[in-house]
Amino acid sequence: MAKAVGIDLGTTNSVIAVMEGGKPEVIVNAEGARTTPSVVAYKGDERLVGQIAKRQAALNPAATLFEVKRFIGRRWEEVKEEAARSPFKVKEGPGGSVRIEVNGKDVAPEQVSAEVLRKMVADASAKIGQNIKDVVITVPAYFDNSQREATRQAGEIAGLNVLRVINEPTAAALAYGIDKKGNETVLVFDLGGGTFDVTILELGDGVFEVKSTSGDTHLGGADFDHRIVDWLAGEFKQEHNFDLKKDPQALQRLIESAEKAKIELSAASETTISLPFITFDPETRTPLHLERKLTRAKFEELVSDLLRRVREPVTQALRDAKLSASDIDEVILVGGSTRVPAVKRIVREIMGKEPNESVNPDEAVALGAAVQAGIISGDAALGDIVLVDVTPLTLGVEVKGGMVAPLIPRNTTVPAKKTEVFTTAENNQPGVEINVLQGERPMAADNKSLGKFKLEGIPPMRAGQPQIEVTFDIDANGILHVTAREKSSGKESSIRIENTTTLDKNEVERMVREAEANAEADRSRREHVEKKNTLDSLRLQAQQQVEEASSAPQDLKDKVSKLADEAKQAVESDADNARLQSLTTDLEAALRELMQAAPQGGSQPQAEAKKDDDVVDADFKPAD
Ligand code: ADP
Ligand code: MG
Repeated sequence: MAKAVGIDLGTTNSVIAVMEGGKPEVIVNAEGARTTPSVVAYKGDERLVGQIAKRQAALNPAATLFEVKRFIGRRWEEVKEEAARSPFKVKEGPGGSVRIEVNGKDVAPEQVSAEVLRKMVADASAKIGQNIKDVVITVPAYFDNSQREATRQAGEIAGLNVLRVINEPTAAALAYGIDKKGNETVLVFDLGGGTFDVTILELGDGVFEVKSTSGDTHLGGADFDHRIVDWLAGEFKQEHNFDLKKDPQALQRLIESAEKAKIELSAASETTISLPFITFDPETRTPLHLERKLTRAKFEELVSDLLRRVREPVTQALRDAKLSASDIDEVILVGGSTRVPAVKRIVREIMGKEPNESVNPDEAVALGAAVQAGIISGDAALGDIVLVDVTPLTLGVEVKGGMVAPLIPRNTTVPAKKTEVFTTAENNQPGVEINVLQGERPMAADNKSLGKFKLEGIPPMRAGQPQIEVTFDIDANGILHVTAREKSSGKESSIRIENTTTLDKNEVERMVREAEANAEADRSRREHVEKKNTLDSLRLQAQQQVEEASSAPQDLKDKVSKLADEAKQAVESDADNARLQSLTTDLEAALRELMQAAPQGGSQPQAEAKKDDDVVDADFKPAD
């Protein structure tokens, strides 16, 4: 059986890891990198994933999708604001969901994440020589039910068997604590590209027990970047009366250079942002350039309110765990944005101690996910590790007057099951609608509705008499299942889910088929390009051999030349695979004959050796 792997499906970057000889190890991707940008680009009907997609973003802003994790499992209403600043088109989809319009076609965020997962797993499978199917995928602890469910579905669309969805900070703590002997209380502080997560855990004797978790799903390094972008665009507008943010290509270049500047400011105290030819003056049509110096102090001023926002979730997590800052033994920094000096400074300020930087902030989450994958698939080297996680947000139902009746409070250990009995508010009420809510606010309208269930067929009774049992069941993935039963009649009633943003079963199945077909199309496209390249380099070789094989019979040389001409034509006219293949076979045979007739002609046909890995690149041509 192939090994199970752990995947950190990040907003910005993704990482995949596997247990190797009792230790989790990152698997490098096909490009040889340990992290893969979570970027998917659509170019014609081809999809590019990772670094290759990121690299062409500025040239293809409308069809290069990044930070899609911000939209996964979300309602349009929740993300409208973020959608507006995206260089690609994010819009409202069916049932209040979110869709991205690419080249006139709507794709779900789940499908985009599935492309990232598919590449990670395909690369890793090739690397370890096993066909990986079983995966553990991580999500921010603060992800609600629909975001988790949507992430699981992304795995399904990628053709994977998602063993478990686990929380990123918990995974990071696993990576940190796997070799630790004594008892420790740790706080994991994870500030990535799009989300902020805080989790407090107790570790000891192979038990990892989450005490509390909190966070902000709208806070991360990308927000820092946007502050720099806003500042640059604002200054530019003052000077040239031109809004760079309205030009998708300019915006994409701004975002890229803002991130670069931010990263530089983690090491240097000032940097220069230089964007020549950013646009044209609308009146004079002369090119305009952007050049600005940014100091670390100015950057910290631009993001000061964002920095302040990390304080509240930390305080909240401590409060929920009934601990104070001094009870925390170690503060573990995870996520690329914890490299920002001002972030470290604020952690030091809140916690009153030096943060622990012993884990790699980019890799800890994936490593921990690999440990979890190992645990689930029974890796003997891991011994008895127990992971106790919690649900991040309170779950309840809406009751009379638009209030919430909580069933499972936040930070309850999962899996968890809870049943409560409700009743009717009117005489002879034939049915009730159960609105399942997630969130901390007392009024239903202020929380996220996960779905509405209708329970019908209640026998006529006075108000308050029927007994309606509502059961909430959270599985180990943190995903909620709700059932309702009318008790007094003993009759089973049907339950319908309405209004969820997650994809329904049919949609998922369709997307699985689509993704497979796409992968198949990609494969055959690649095969086609490879065949063309093989034939073309063989052709070049043949022409050279004809020149060199002076002693060979003329009719043989003519035969090879003729085949070489046909090959050239076939490559140029983009002939089909069968034609390319038959010409390759014929030309190889003729070349062999030629070389036997004139052995001084040199080497064997070398078409295979000339094959290039980068065949997907449309501009690739064999070197002359
Ligand atoms: P995610 O979990 O969202 O995928 P990561 O943990 O990979 O994110 O962090 C990505 C974020 O970290 C990006 O916003 C990136 O710009 C930022 N980042 C990476 N390295 C640095 C650095 N040296 N200084 C500041 N920010 C950094
Ligand atoms: Mg992350």
